[in-house]
Amino acid sequence: MRTEGVFASNQHPHPDLAILHRGSHHATMKTGNVRLDRHARHILLKEIGGPGQKRLAEATVALVGVGGLGAPAALYLAAAGVGRLILIDPDVVELSNLQRQILFKTEDVGVDKVRAGQAAIRHLDPAIEVEVQVQRLDESNAERLIAGADLVLDGTDQFHTRFAVNAACHALGIPLVSGAVGRWDGQVAVFGSGLSKTDPHGQALPCYRCFVPEVPPQAETCAEMGIVGALTGVVGSMMALEAIKWLTKAGKPLMGRLWMMDGLSGQSRTVSLKADPACPCCGVH
Ligand SMILES: [Zn+2]
Repeated sequence: MRTEGVFASNQHPHPDLAILHRGSHHATMKTGNVRLDRHARHILLKEIGGPGQKRLAEATVALVGVGGLGAPAALYLAAAGVGRLILIDPDVVELSNLQRQILFKTEDVGVDKVRAGQAAIRHLDPAIEVEVQVQRLDESNAERLIAGADLVLDGTDQFHTRFAVNAACHALGIPLVSGAVGRWDGQVAVFGSGLSKTDPHGQALPCYRCFVPEVPPQAETCAEMGIVGALTGVVGSMMALEAIKWLTKAGKPLMGRLWMMDGLSGQSRTVSLKADPACPCCGVH
């Protein structure tokens, strides 16, 4: 095995890994498509382990928007071994994207983002299945585009797209990891109204529109207000982290909670969100 940092010896840095390694042939057969060498650092974690890694390999995650947030999220999900990714984005790579959209290279300028992303992921791990959709998601195609996904990540900068993603996730019962950035600020939340609607005894979980009922009057996009590239990396990675937690059932997801960070001060906080009975999407009409 290759080691990193201070573990530059022939010794396995962790006894459990040595056991996994010695038994790797048997373990690979036993755990199906878990690839021990590639995902050894996940398998060492008690919250993920072989079963969690198998869940990742069997999962399908749809990414709506392969931009500042979707690009780093896609890389980390592919590196994590999520078996199938659906990339949905109508745009081509522009030179101004490269400041933050680290999935792409200079030679990708002018290429469909989803196709350039597919090629990059193929280089990272050829075993990951990547479905590409060169389409703008809207109310008419949202359910078709995300159908079959276990989880959806939304990193778009258009409120109408966000509303359409949210409505489709609610209708299909798919949890939604939603991320947003602007200037120096970032947010991530997980919405699960589509899960709680079929659970008569559970507490109603909010959807995105319980949080943002209508398009804010002064909505701006990154193109208009500017954005620090590294911040999109933090928030996109946080979205990938929430996805990995959800899929492996590790820890406590940001379900119904909003994580907010202020990049300028280095501070972050998390608040609870409530389902709104008057919500235009999931409310009682
Ligand atoms: Zn709602």
